[in-house]
Amino acid sequence: MDVKSRTLRNTHQRQLVLDIVRSSFDHPTAGEVYERARLQDSTISKGTVYRNLKLLSELGEIRKLEMPFGSDHYDFNLEEHYHFLCRRCNKTVDLSIEYRKELNEVPPPAAGYSIEQHRLLLIGLCSDCNT
Ligand SMILES: [Zn+2]
Ligand SMILES: [Zn+2]
Repeated sequence: MDVKSRTLRNTHQRQLVLDIVRSSFDHPTAGEVYERARLQDSTISKGTVYRNLKLLSELGEIRKLEMPFGSDHYDFNLEEHYHFLCRRCNKTVDLSIEYRKELNEVPPPAAGYSIEQHRLLLIGLCSDCNT
């Protein structure tokens, strides 16, 4: 494959990864994005999906949700919001509670420290796992 068609393919595959995250409301893991991408482009490799997810997160196009256990998840919603994580099946859903902006303005732990952001993750069991 020549350079031009390889570049074109890379662009298409990056767009595909972005489109999948943007149309997924369930905070997919990299593995889930790969499964969905493969349905639309059987030539896409796991490495390509993972690399593009990393790049798109770094570019701020999508958000990577780093989890205390299990796989990381990806979110198209760039607005600050909180999540619930099921400890059994790793399902991740948005919480409807309001973002507490004032928590970024609490006094820093000591002189010379600064606070830039905060995170809140509630962990428990989802309705499927809670039976
Ligand atoms: Zn669950
Ligand atoms: Zn979310």
